[in-house]
Amino acid sequence: MAEKCSICNNKIKTTFLGKIVGTKIGKKYVCNECQKKYKDKVKEMV
Ligand SMILES: [Zn+2]
Repeated sequence: MAEKCSICNNKIKTTFLGKIVGTKIGKKYVCNECQKKYKDKVKEMV
């Protein structure tokens, strides 16, 4: 199952343990790159 980033629409990567590389805000996902780029703003962007 591949979730997509709500901001850039790229697929969210997962680690070998199945943990997402990024963050989940409510039901939306944000990739690690966007999280780094936008930091706290991601909460307003998703
Ligand atoms: Zn993204």
